[in-house]
Amino acid sequence: MKNLDIAKFGGTSVANFEAMLSSYKVVVSNPNTRVVIISACSGVTNILVELASGACSRDKVSELIEKLRSIHTSIIEKLDNQEDLKTNLETHLKEIYDLTQEANMGRSDALTDRIVSHGELISTYLFAALFNKMGTKAHWFDIRNIMRTDSSFGCALPLVEVLKAQCKEKLEPLLDEDCIIISQGFIGANSEGQTTTLGRGGSDYSAALLGEALKASTISIWTDVPGVYTTDPRLVPHAKPISELTYLEAAEMATFGAKILHPSTLVPAVRRGIPVYVGSSREPEKGGTWVRPFTESHPAFRAVALRKNQTLIVLASPKMVGASGFLANVFSVFAKYKKSVDLVSTSEVSIAVTLDTGTSTSGKNSISESMLDELRAFCHVKVETGLSLVAIIGNEMSEHAGITTQAFDSINRYAVRMICYGASNHNLCFLLKEEDAVEALIEIHHHLLED
Ligand code: ADP
Ligand code: ASP
Ligand code: MG
Repeated sequence: MKNLDIAKFGGTSVANFEAMLSSYKVVVSNPNTRVVIISACSGVTNILVELASGACSRDKVSELIEKLRSIHTSIIEKLDNQEDLKTNLETHLKEIYDLTQEANMGRSDALTDRIVSHGELISTYLFAALFNKMGTKAHWFDIRNIMRTDSSFGCALPLVEVLKAQCKEKLEPLLDEDCIIISQGFIGANSEGQTTTLGRGGSDYSAALLGEALKASTISIWTDVPGVYTTDPRLVPHAKPISELTYLEAAEMATFGAKILHPSTLVPAVRRGIPVYVGSSREPEKGGTWVRPFTESHPAFRAVALRKNQTLIVLASPKMVGASGFLANVFSVFAKYKKSVDLVSTSEVSIAVTLDTGTSTSGKNSISESMLDELRAFCHVKVETGLSLVAIIGNEMSEHAGITTQAFDSINRYAVRMICYGASNHNLCFLLKEEDAVEALIEIHHHLLED
């Protein structure tokens, strides 16, 4: 289809009836928007993750299920065919309850994915009902029919070629019909049909993957802020909106903690060169950010991002002096445990790394004891927690004198545990104590990004 737009709405954009109505208006205002991907209603995934933890008492389970009932019933009460919708909701709640009992006997990532998937299954069902109430034909589509992933439950990897083939066969024909397709972000299924998830915040990634598979001309991410800002506007209320960003800048921001985009979102968009728009579903008239291959401006300092909960691993080997193979051994252990390394710094006898803590749905990001034991077999291992990463994102940083001086000056009041600079021309990262990080980010923003 020519000029197809895939629109994704996050949890706050479908949090209640009023939010859903604003999102509905955004969809119908763009005739190119034919596929809509949505998240669970705000707060619902957190409740489901708690239920899936296997650690909830009987009273807690009842309390959480009641919360789920209340969030969704308040939407149903403003829709048509309320009895049908309530029956459907109760079926989901019953299954969530049964699965929670299973989790209490022994939790697993596979079970967690089955439990949390109900958030998106319910929200899409209600959103489709809203379209029908408003007189716009909508087709509810179970994304698990096409979003094939591997079996890494909690952080599954999409199988892009299978997705493309499934999309062609099962989703594309629906585009010929006069209706809006409404489907779930975040969830998928492996080749055995078991439900998987793409990790927390994964709906952005789902939308981008579908954009690629359907050869969309735009991907729109509708959220609770009017675009990408120079930093999280919750941390710095006078952060400035950015009207356009390159893929590279946006990807660096997402990787280093700007929650507005899931870190993998830009990957499918880049593969097909699809522009990504980020805007507010509540205030679409405020405009937003276009993320594209190239932009007119490319300032040295574009934005600053914060990533909490960083773990630093310092590996020291007295044999490293003049020895070869130490780094290869260290990295082969990380590869074996499928850990990707974020930051690296080396000295003569040691190497310090932070590992990608990922966005696993269960929230259990393990640096396993067995991995540490394997490392201990050939070096001394020290693990440090309670750290945050503050990343300055910009352009051609190494090509201008004084850039690093400005950056260092802006945080001269804080102890810096690690610095990374040079691998990319687009970022300069500081690892700081958790308790200093927000203040340091505010200082950096003040010095480098405010007039
Ligand atoms: P959604 O539920 O729509 O996916 P998220 O909560 O995942 O929304 O992402 C939107 C939030 O991202 C904003 O409310 C904001 O607090 C946060 N955020 C972090 N960094 C940025 C940034 N640089 N620009 C805008 N928002 C940001
Ligand atoms: N509902 C999921 C979450 O809260 C996915 C998403 O919102 O993108 O993480
Ligand atoms: Mg999000």
